[in-house]
Amino acid sequence: MLDMKWVRESAENQEQLQRVADQKGIALSVAELVELDEQRRALLLAVEGLRQKRNTMSLDISNHMKQGQREEAELLKQQVKAINTELDIQEGLHREVDAAYNELLILVPNIVSPDTPVGASDQDNVEVKRVGQPPEFEFEYRDHVTLGELHRLIDIPRGVKTAGTRSYYLTGIGAMLHRAVQQLAVDMLTTRGFTLMDVPLTVRTEAMQNTAFFPLGQDQAFHIAEEDKWLVGTSEVPLVSFYSGEIVDVTQPIRLAAASLCFRSEVGSGGRDVHGLYRVHQFAKVEQVVLCEASEETSEQLLQEITANAEELLQMLELPYRVVAVCTGDMSQKTYKQYDIETWMPSRAAYGETHSSSDLLDFQARRSNIRYRDAEGKLRYCHTLNNTAVASPRILIPLLENHQQEDGSILIPQALRPYLNGMERITPPS
Ligand code: AMP
Repeated sequence: MLDMKWVRESAENQEQLQRVADQKGIALSVAELVELDEQRRALLLAVEGLRQKRNTMSLDISNHMKQGQREEAELLKQQVKAINTELDIQEGLHREVDAAYNELLILVPNIVSPDTPVGASDQDNVEVKRVGQPPEFEFEYRDHVTLGELHRLIDIPRGVKTAGTRSYYLTGIGAMLHRAVQQLAVDMLTTRGFTLMDVPLTVRTEAMQNTAFFPLGQDQAFHIAEEDKWLVGTSEVPLVSFYSGEIVDVTQPIRLAAASLCFRSEVGSGGRDVHGLYRVHQFAKVEQVVLCEASEETSEQLLQEITANAEELLQMLELPYRVVAVCTGDMSQKTYKQYDIETWMPSRAAYGETHSSSDLLDFQARRSNIRYRDAEGKLRYCHTLNNTAVASPRILIPLLENHQQEDGSILIPQALRPYLNGMERITPPS
């Protein structure tokens, strides 16, 4: 949520907001929002005025009655009746306008940082840096699905048999790798001051709305109809909601991490990324979430920190990657500034997104009502940030494909070996 005071403040702010809504592809008329805001405030004033008038008159009526002035009291009673009728009308109007206003308010996007590239889609994201060299294979290399079958790590046909499209089993070393990358990420974060949390994965609608995943992303979530709850698409939802409605201490940034399953309907992705493990309905993600004071400088530093954490993880996995500055058209409603990290995937002959690092300023904290007291004791909404530490099985694509050898074996990066009983390479089962 944006501060409506800022929106009301000037025509320039309203123009800026309309521009961002258009750039983010959100159907919102800021002029209509401002008009409804004015109407509801005027109606509220009218309602309050009428209520006050009625209270004063009721007091006068009882005074007249006490003094035996029945006629005067009767006259006033008639007037109160008329006020009540008018009040009913004005209250009804206020309710209607307020509901229409709130429907628009929930669509208002966060503004974007001045250094955010303007563009329509991920094609317009701007590369910031590249680290590592994509391998140049001098043999016919295999994709992760073929490698997964060869080494019995991945079983997609049986996943589809059991759970439908975009489903899979990870088996044996495949399942161990999946857990190993997550534990590596958890260990890295917990040694860097992150508190590990185990979080609820079915949440109330309110939590999805407060964290700005609803209403615009509602079609991406699986609904548990009987309980009116939702399966989360990321642990960012329960991590941020942990503090909803609370006053927190952010003298030091609050760093949270969770390793959780994530569920996504992937509605709208149609025939995109249907091969292999890239886009599936259920995956695991180790997530970083940070809450800090409402200072753009502090949250920018933290954005760099959580992005660097993800980069270091990729370096530990010995994978080539690049960082891109995400453009307006590829950003969600809540995002102020975003980097994606894309890791080299030989089978796609391209870098594929594996991490997403975002600074939301106070947008999410406003919706979730998370505040802190600043040095002057004033209550303020804090800033929130989030980034993937690792998401699996997507990370298994570059992991298996980049580290494959001519003899069909797959080298395990040094950093992962302690999590795999010291295994140095995966060789085909005999
Ligand atoms: P997001 O929370 O949408 O920013 O995604 C964070 C990361 O989760 C992505 O960069 C991917 O690595 C992973 N991810 C997101 N959606 C899927 C999916 N449908 N299947 C597999 N991995 C996914």
